[in-house]
This record gives sequence, structure tokens and C-alpha cells, in this order.
Amino acid sequence: MGGRERELLLDAFDSGWIAPGGPHVRAFEEEFIEKLDCGHAVSLSSGTAALHLALEMLGVGPGDEVLVSSLTFASSVFAIRYVGATPVFVDSDPSTWTLAPGLLENHFGRSGAKPAALIAVDVYGQCADYDPLRELCLRHGIPLIEDASQALGARYRDAAAGTLGDLGAFSFNGNKIITTGGGGMLVSRRREWIERARKLASNSRDTAPHYEHSSIGYNYALSNLPAALGRAQLRALDDQVARRRANNAGYRDRLADVEGISFMPEASYGVSTHWLTAILIDPAVFGADREAVRSHLASRGIESRPLLKPMHLQPVFAELPALGGEVSEGLFAAGLCLPSGSNLDSGQLDRVCDTLLEARGRRLANEGADA
Ligand SMILES: *Cc1c(COP(=O)(O)O)cnc(C)c1O
Repeated sequence: MGGRERELLLDAFDSGWIAPGGPHVRAFEEEFIEKLDCGHAVSLSSGTAALHLALEMLGVGPGDEVLVSSLTFASSVFAIRYVGATPVFVDSDPSTWTLAPGLLENHFGRSGAKPAALIAVDVYGQCADYDPLRELCLRHGIPLIEDASQALGARYRDAAAGTLGDLGAFSFNGNKIITTGGGGMLVSRRREWIERARKLASNSRDTAPHYEHSSIGYNYALSNLPAALGRAQLRALDDQVARRRANNAGYRDRLADVEGISFMPEASYGVSTHWLTAILIDPAVFGADREAVRSHLASRGIESRPLLKPMHLQPVFAELPALGGEVSEGLFAAGLCLPSGSNLDSGQLDRVCDTLLEARGRRLANEGADA
């Protein structure tokens, strides 16, 4: 948070317009549309709400099948359950870690039932491969939702992340690249979807002086205070992306010659934000496994986290169908997200990398001691 955030937040506060809606809400949406060239946008209380409404706009419901990346945060899948549909998990492509188009091709060709939608997730700030995905979806008449919750500011060829599908969802949760303290955005080039989503998000109020409702709605609207924060954060987006990319480059420089450590590949079709810097650790070569490294970092006060646990391995989704799974399982087993905050300095990067390398010696020393 910077001075601009404070200024706009106080402006909203002093205006007395706290909620619902308000001038900062409209301005946030307009500035977001302009920044991303995304057609239309409605700001919401969370990214999960954006995904839920995206599925509602497509009329997805009970009995429908929705394909979704297995390597994602659970909200992408929760939204599918909210509308009563059945998720089918799709494994990652090892060259991008995002959803593997080849698996879909087989599934679309084979299955009799037509999926009601595909949710492609832009993992850790890297876009999925939308040329083949869009071609496949178009050919089979399947609507595409882009979950760009982790990828605001990324590019796929000439387009902004979040604008590649029929609908795009963003999150401004506290851990995302920009935050409103909690919030989200649904975007589409189809005005009628966004207007309908806006109404559903405001308790589905009909136009009338009294409270009139002709459909079930949700309380999903974003209020004026977080929208004010969002406007200031959006202005700093390019700088935030540059910092995340600089973190990634800094880690790559420092760990380039370390055998047994590799980085999430950056696909040539786009520009990742490197929202989080993720590495893979080959225990046989590096000399310590992911958990040994993570706990050594933690013992030195450095927080890191295993890669996203694939959805097909989650207890809550254990019974659900999946296409492949070995690739994301391997990523989860070996993957670690390093500290990636926008305010890391080079001394801190040095300390993370030095400590990470110590883990190797320690693990070998421990093994020696055990023997
Ligand atoms: C964070 C996240 C969400 C959910 O966003 P919230 O704003 O926390 O509801 C959905 N999908 C992915 C991939 C995310 O990372």
C-alpha cells in the first residue's frame, strides 16, 4: 500500500459514501476496462463470486460437466459445485504447468456428453495456451472461462490475461498481485452478461421503489471503500509486475548453477507476472527433498509453501473424474513457492537462496549422523 491508496481511501471515507456501490466502484471498473481492454466489467466481493456468476451466465447447472485445471486453488472448483455441476479435472502440460490442451482434444472427441464449460486457470501468473484451447472450444461449441485470479497483468500474445475466454475472473484477495483487501472482477465482451451479473450480485433487485425480486440473487457487490483501494492498486500494477518479475530473475541468477533445482518454465507465447516464483527440487540430485528445504527455510524464519495440491488429490473431490494427473502430482511432490512479495530486496533474495542451499548440506549431514 502506498500514498495513493491512503489518499483515495480517505477520499471515499470522507465522502460518506461507504456502501453500496459508489463513485469509486464505477471508476474502478472503468479504469480496469481501459487497462485491460476487456469490454465490460463488474466488480465483486471476491474472485470466487466472479467464477460463480460466470457459470451462472452460461446457464451451467445440475447434471452438467465442467472441465477445469486440476492445478489450481480450490475456489475454481467450488464455484462449479455451487451451481450443482460436476467438475472434471484436467492435468497440466509439463512445459507450462497450465492445462494440457492435448488431454481436452481426446476428451472432446471421445465423450458423448458435451461439457457445459471449460475453466482454464492461469497458474502463478502464467496464461494457459489459449490458441489451441480457443480453437478446441470453438470447434466443439464449449464456452471458455478464464480464471485469471493469479494472473492480472500477464499477457497472452497481444492480449491481457483474463480477456482470452468468453468470460474472465480476477481476484483482489490479500495475497494476489493487487488487493482491495478482498474483492474480484468479472469481465466479458458481452455487455448483457455483465449487466445481468451486476444485477444478480446486487441481490437481484428489480427496478422499483420497493424491494422487488423476480429471480434469486446474491450479495456479491463490491463497496466503495475497497474499490477506492483497487483504483490506487491498479495504477501501481505495472510496477508490481515488474517487481515480481525482478524477484524471479533474481532467484534464477542466484540458483542458475545449482543442480537439482529448476524453475517454472515461462511459455514463449506470453509474459508471466511470476506472481509467485515456483521451483522444482529433484531430491536425488539436489540432496534434499522439497519438505526438507521448506522446513529448513521455516526454521530460519523464511516462509515458503508447497505448490498447489492438485484438485484430483483433494479429499473433498476424491470421487470426481480426472483426465490424467501424473504431471500435476509430480509438480506438487517436488514444487516449492519461494518468497515472492513485491517488496523483497536483493539482500533478502540472497538470504533465501543461501538458506535454501544450506538445506542440502544439512540433509546430507543428518543422513550421515543417522548412519
Ligand atoms: C485466489 C483464487 C481464486 C479465488 O479468489 P478469491 O478472491 O479469494 O475468492 C480463484 N481461483 C484462483 C486460481 C485463485 O488463485
